[in-house]
Amino acid sequence: MKALETDIAIVGAGPVGLMCAYLAHLCGLRAVVLDKSAEPLRVGRADALNARTLQLLEIAGLFDDLYPLGKICNTSSVWAGGGFVSRQSKWWDALEGCFHKHFLMLGQPFVEQLLDRKLQQAGNPVRRCTTVSHVEKTENGCLTTLGNGETIASRYVIGADGSRSFIRELFKVPFEVTRPQIIWAVLDGVIESDFPKVPEIITFQTDTSDVAWIPREGDIDRFYVRMDTKDFTLDQAIERINRAMQPHTMRFKELVWFSAFSVKESVAERFSIDDRIFLAGDASHIHSVNGGMGLNTGLSDAFNLIWKMHRVLKLDAPASLLRSYEEERKPVALGVVETSGQLVRSTKFSKEGTHAKDYVDIVERRSGYVTGMGVRYGEEGMRGTRLQDFMVETEEKSTRIYSLLDYAHYTLLTFGDGRPGFDLPVFTKTIRVPRSENCPYHNQALLVRPDGYIADVTLL
Ligand SMILES: Cc1cc2nc3c(=O)[nH]c(=O)nc-3n(C[C@H](O)[C@H](O)[C@H](O)COP(=O)(O)OP(=O)(O)OC[C@H]3O[C@@H](n4cnc5c(N)ncnc54)[C@H](O)[C@@H]3O)c2cc1C
Repeated sequence: MKALETDIAIVGAGPVGLMCAYLAHLCGLRAVVLDKSAEPLRVGRADALNARTLQLLEIAGLFDDLYPLGKICNTSSVWAGGGFVSRQSKWWDALEGCFHKHFLMLGQPFVEQLLDRKLQQAGNPVRRCTTVSHVEKTENGCLTTLGNGETIASRYVIGADGSRSFIRELFKVPFEVTRPQIIWAVLDGVIESDFPKVPEIITFQTDTSDVAWIPREGDIDRFYVRMDTKDFTLDQAIERINRAMQPHTMRFKELVWFSAFSVKESVAERFSIDDRIFLAGDASHIHSVNGGMGLNTGLSDAFNLIWKMHRVLKLDAPASLLRSYEEERKPVALGVVETSGQLVRSTKFSKEGTHAKDYVDIVERRSGYVTGMGVRYGEEGMRGTRLQDFMVETEEKSTRIYSLLDYAHYTLLTFGDGRPGFDLPVFTKTIRVPRSENCPYHNQALLVRPDGYIADVTLL
């Protein structure tokens, strides 16, 4: 049987594989997404989209679909011995150039189901109940073999196949796992409690800080409970929650999801194999859930990678552009793993016994990773920093500058008269931005990458 031909074969239709496929669609690339599961996630797993992800969703035209579904949360508080200790949100309040200074509490199923639906509407549904059994490099690209013997010839393969990545193992990419022997129970459901229900992340301090209460979309709440053993029951997890909340109590009226996971930390040694096969999301980095960075980091991987493939495949960019994927994303993954590692350890170990306070202090110190807004590529001035968002008046409407960006293009933004002195990449959209009060870029021209980072800047 002749191999099916496509630009990109994507192994895995978790949020990262789905986002890669959707961004490829926006760029007019052909992509085949393969997943062994029968349907997108229905319950559980990741619970929060950070401020940078919200900006990226705006570029991809997905913000309006997701934002109304979630709950806003920008506050972390600490409770101990039944009393309020502290409340913080300064790392969110201090963010500049951003309209959504908070987490959007929204479960991973909403992200997966939206993207799955968008791909169906685009006439390119995920090929489900399909297992990938082999991938090999060919002269011009890759050949992917499915469990049923079918083959797919593509220029690139993306392994977005999760923490136990088959693609990573097949190509023997080193992935040394650290296990800090910390086990979390996670419980989602509708609760009843005499503790006032607030849209805040609450860390409870008892002997240690082993319980966190996370607000979620709709009428759902989530509890993370640190259990120090693998053998525990649902009742024991609920008992721990009640111990931490004393003198208040809670009970689940309806339990929606209950799961346990032991923390594992790793970053793949390489994110690509010969610039043909790429690892993204949990396939390339895993860590504890503390700080809510797993899904967010994976989605940023997708935004970093696909425009580069687009430019190499369709717009004559040199293949070496793809090398910048690992150069840019691996340091971010290392920073994320370090951040979540500090956070998770602080729930168990504390010099002064102030675990919950230590936790919030770490969030504050490393908030660039938690909010996603501290990520930059390179060290040189404004280059590699995220474009700041602000309101502009166009002829038709008043709008956020991010809503004018377009993932399939570089954007030249000019904030004044004159022509910029740098070369423009092919297929650059130019927007002359009318004078606006809060614009931080007066008399400058900015060349903005498709993923919203500044590629070049000059005075006009
Ligand atoms: C049990 C659990 C609980 C979690 N809880 C939280 C949480 O509370 N908060 C949080 O922030 N994060 C949580 N995470 C992490 C978060 O869910 C991940 O960071 C996120 O799902 C990563 O997305 P991904 O697309 O990279 O991988 P995944 O979502 O794992 O998707 C990988 C996909 O690849 C498919 N696949 C794998 N191998 C093959 C193959 N050979 N052929 C075809 N398809 C294949 C799988 O079916 C799957 O759909 C949790 C993860 C797990 C596993």
